[in-house]
Amino acid sequence: MEYRSIEEKKQQLFESFQQDYETAKAGKKIRPRLGNEMGINYMRERQTLSFLLHPELKETAYEIGYTIGVEITSDMIKGKTLPEIMDSNQPIANRDGYALEEIIEADENHAVYRHYECADCYGLPDIGDHICVYEAGVAAGMFSTALGKKCRVTETRCCAAGDPFCEFLVEVIE
Ligand SMILES: [Zn+2]
Repeated sequence: MEYRSIEEKKQQLFESFQQDYETAKAGKKIRPRLGNEMGINYMRERQTLSFLLHPELKETAYEIGYTIGVEITSDMIKGKTLPEIMDSNQPIANRDGYALEEIIEADENHAVYRHYECADCYGLPDIGDHICVYEAGVAAGMFSTALGKKCRVTETRCCAAGDPFCEFLVEVIE
């Protein structure tokens, strides 16, 4: 009989994810034989086809990303103001290998940044869509937590819409 609530399972998952980050940071293998790395195609195919066939999933993906940003990765960034937070966030994408990030502008209420060679969308054909909603959600969760105010992050340009890079708009909404 399953007696645990979703909340309990979520907590267990968060702890396990944190542990995986610690393991990886210590240079150790999460999987004993195959290690921690895997090709990006695995993730891309599933994500992109999910969003193409079921566009309503994008909102859910943003919310899941937001939860990840708040619960799992928000301790990666420092800073009190939005420009400080953006500066602190900038090297993470490159370090973790999912994009090269450039900050275009940042003030107290909004910011714009770009991702070059994004793991999700770089090199995809123009399908007229903005698909990097997990990234936007994770960023929104991290920035909101660091700032103590709710932020929304919207992907305004994407390789899957024929743009040469992804561009994200950050808005402080409360
Ligand atoms: Zn994109």
